[in-house]
Amino acid sequence: MAEETIFSKIIRKEIPADILYQDDLVTAFRDINPRAPSHILIIPNKLIPTVNDVEADDERMLGRLFTVARQLAEQEGVSENGYRLIMNCNPHGGQEVYHIHMHLLGGRPLGPMLVG
Ligand code: 5GP
Repeated sequence: MAEETIFSKIIRKEIPADILYQDDLVTAFRDINPRAPSHILIIPNKLIPTVNDVEADDERMLGRLFTVARQLAEQEGVSENGYRLIMNCNPHGGQEVYHIHMHLLGGRPLGPMLVG
């Protein structure tokens, strides 16, 4: 069994977060340490630790991450200028929280994809 992270508590509303969207499959909330004017995390409600743990049965839920990203990008007013979606995996990918999440970043030019 994968170990729960702070994100499971956010999904269950046991700890506060600025939740922008929630349905039966996914939850979206503002990142506590925003790296851009809009920095939102979109996560499956089911605990999947890393992208390495994704299974075919998860496809519908993972597709929902993208439709919610599109809706929230519109809501944030960043659709036209553009934004970046990022999923980090394991230490080399810079993953800190082991509950998969899509970062939606926008609201300013984000520069080159990788720095350093
Ligand atoms: P990762 O590096 O795993 O891709 O990104 C984890 C993200 O989760 C980081 O951007 C970090 O700021 C955010 N984060 C970590 N703990 C919390 C929290 O308790 N609440 C919120 N809203 N964001 C968090």
